Amino acid sequence: MRLVPTSQQFICKQCRSLVTIETFEHTRDGVPFCRCPNCNVKNALVETGATASQPGLVPVTRLLE
Ligand SMILES: [Zn+2]
Repeated sequence: MRLVPTSQQFICKQCRSLVTIETFEHTRDGVPFCRCPNCNVKNALVETGATASQPGLVPVTRLLE
């Protein structure tokens, strides 16, 4: 787990909430994901490599089990 800038967000693929990313987690395969605080589903995210000066929406690729 590592800290990322809080200015990055994603839209949950299941409940469509806009979620501010606080931490990325990684699966055993190294896929970055973020858990939705509303429906508790894991959204696999594209690792953009953006920094704090590059806020924006991080694309969600799929949902994880
Ligand atoms: Zn959700």
